[in-house]
Amino acid sequence: MNFGAHVSIAGGIYNAPERAINLGCECFQMFTRSPRGGKPPELKDEIVEKFFENCKHASLTNYYVHTPYFINLASHKSELRENSINLVREELSRSSLLKVKSMMTHIGSSKDMKRSDAIENVVDSLNRVLDAYDGHTELLLENTAGQGHTIGITFEEIAEILNKAESKKIGVCIDTAHMFASGYDLRTDKDIKDLENIIKNTVTFDKIKLIHGNDSKVDFNSGKDRHEHIGKGKIGEGGFRSIINNKQLNKFDMIVETPPEGVKEDIQVLKELRDKAES
Ligand SMILES: [Zn+2]
Repeated sequence: MNFGAHVSIAGGIYNAPERAINLGCECFQMFTRSPRGGKPPELKDEIVEKFFENCKHASLTNYYVHTPYFINLASHKSELRENSINLVREELSRSSLLKVKSMMTHIGSSKDMKRSDAIENVVDSLNRVLDAYDGHTELLLENTAGQGHTIGITFEEIAEILNKAESKKIGVCIDTAHMFASGYDLRTDKDIKDLENIIKNTVTFDKIKLIHGNDSKVDFNSGKDRHEHIGKGKIGEGGFRSIINNKQLNKFDMIVETPPEGVKEDIQVLKELRDKAES
């Protein structure tokens, strides 16, 4: 299992690999633009070349992109949904240009809608995003903490979307803090074994491509999205040890998305747990 972090692209996207290495990352995640909106910085040839050079220099081959926060593929507001579809498509092509392995997006929210209508919109949006898409980067859907009316709270719901979507190439990114907050306990070996069975019976391990490794500031099943440093939250070191020891889960890269101060230590904690698991 390789560990990495979400790193900033401040000053230029080609700065991300060095930041990752300085944190001890073996893989990394980034935005390609401001997550809060606005026009994306143009990916000129020389910028892309410099990014590749810096990745090579840092020996980093596995890197991922997170889409901006405001995406809502379910929305009944047509302008927001159209913008979201265009943005996910645009991000997929920007990511492909950068040879990004996969790109995860939050699915959206069913606020002021019937849940089934929201799911129908999501499926339609995904079909349109991936229509004639044959880029390098794979699209992943991320599970949510269960806050508000977000979609993707349960693995059953994500499996339903994957089954209904035309493209069979959509993958899943599982976030530990979100799982814990939405009612999937992760604190013991037994919890991780149970999770393994749930995944086998819903989205399946073939679809999982990445793990977001975040401890949780909030209690089990609290439905809130608050990340904490590894081992310092309610999941605790034991939960991460169990994940790292699990043969189905430890084949994926794990990216931490914890507050910037302390990320280096998070990676270190995870590497130590891995070292102990191997010895
Ligand atoms: Zn996440």
